[in-house]
Amino acid sequence: MSTEALDERVIVWFDIDNTLYSASSKISHAMGERIHEYFVNLGLSHEEASELHLKYYSQYGLALRGLTRHHDIDPLDFDRKCDGSLPLEDMIKFDPAVRRLFEDIDRSKARVWALTNAYKPHAQRVLRILQLEDQIEGLVFCDYEIPDFTCKPEAEYYKMAMRQANATDPSKCYFVDDSRGNIDGARAQGWARCVHFRERGLEAVEGGRTKQIGDERDAEIIDKAVETVTTLDGLRSVWPEIFKDSRR
Ligand SMILES: [Mg+2]
Repeated sequence: MSTEALDERVIVWFDIDNTLYSASSKISHAMGERIHEYFVNLGLSHEEASELHLKYYSQYGLALRGLTRHHDIDPLDFDRKCDGSLPLEDMIKFDPAVRRLFEDIDRSKARVWALTNAYKPHAQRVLRILQLEDQIEGLVFCDYEIPDFTCKPEAEYYKMAMRQANATDPSKCYFVDDSRGNIDGARAQGWARCVHFRERGLEAVEGGRTKQIGDERDAEIIDKAVETVTTLDGLRSVWPEIFKDSRR
């Protein structure tokens, strides 16, 4: 048994891609193209590649999860060719407003972690460009080196995240993600304060398909406990208790 004192603070989990930066960066488009190319290079036609990409994304939350299950591929090779080849430095920029949001979280009340379906190098690269590395206390990523690794929205992924953060109480978990499926996965684990980040008027690519953000099921109808924000600064209003200045 751990001799460490139990940390009573809540824990705030931030998704990274299309959450910490805007979908207007079109990174999901560039990722989708690379993943499509990867499927085609397995010997599939463009049509088969599109179908399978969407199928695996829908079924597993991550195309690579399906690739590792059903094809003999090296996840690290996939990561190099897909996320690793993205010119992120040209696509996203430091945003002082996002950094300020992190700085304004009262760390006597909340711990701040990142929770991503990407592999570690991509996650770290994004955090470095956004100058958020020092604002994140821990990073939970998909470990492509583990055979049969887990990812959002699988139950095991959220359990693993809590273990890594030494968190035991799901009612103290706050979470923001642009994927409704990932929010539902967290809710199924009892994570209490989930927020769906839905930018207005933008497109994103999921599972190789372009979709209008906001086309998903309506959060309020499905699960009243899930709030929606259209900007990250909206978190100040839905989670006022964890910010230093709650008057905003
Ligand atoms: Mg995301």
